[in-house]
Amino acid sequence: MCARSSRSSLETATTNRSLDGEVVVTRRTHFNASHRLVNTDRSARWNRNTYGSCNNPNGHGHNYVLEVSVVGRPDSSTGYVIDLGELKEIIGRQITDRCDHRNLNLDVDFLSGIIPSAENLVIAFWNQLAPHIMKGRLHCVRLWETERNRAEYFGPAAQV
Ligand SMILES: [Zn+2]
Repeated sequence: MCARSSRSSLETATTNRSLDGEVVVTRRTHFNASHRLVNTDRSARWNRNTYGSCNNPNGHGHNYVLEVSVVGRPDSSTGYVIDLGELKEIIGRQITDRCDHRNLNLDVDFLSGIIPSAENLVIAFWNQLAPHIMKGRLHCVRLWETERNRAEYFGPAAQV
């Protein structure tokens, strides 16, 4: 029993020593959506040859996995690069609430006019997120379309 113990050593220890270094933190989330790969400037034959079954007229669905990474130095008062709960809310507001259970060709305003390939989606998602990341800076948007296929974007300044 420890009923008479006073403050624990965890409360009295100094915990505000800063460490120098940049760290990447990542939030993973999911959404389900349908899409069709089609370039309306090209012929039906070109689209079938280019996209195969991904060009099926009524579309198809994916269980997308989205990973958003932020890089920065841990804040000396919190130890966080960014509060991952805050990052979760930004991703929800800017992307998953707007894409989940939607048709990406028709239902999502910020995807209007683009071919919703994984490649284009990560650039569009970056553009949706970057202005809202106030702690650290956006490092990578990674989208898994299937367990085997993913696209990742490191921003307009990155050279891959
Ligand atoms: Zn697809």
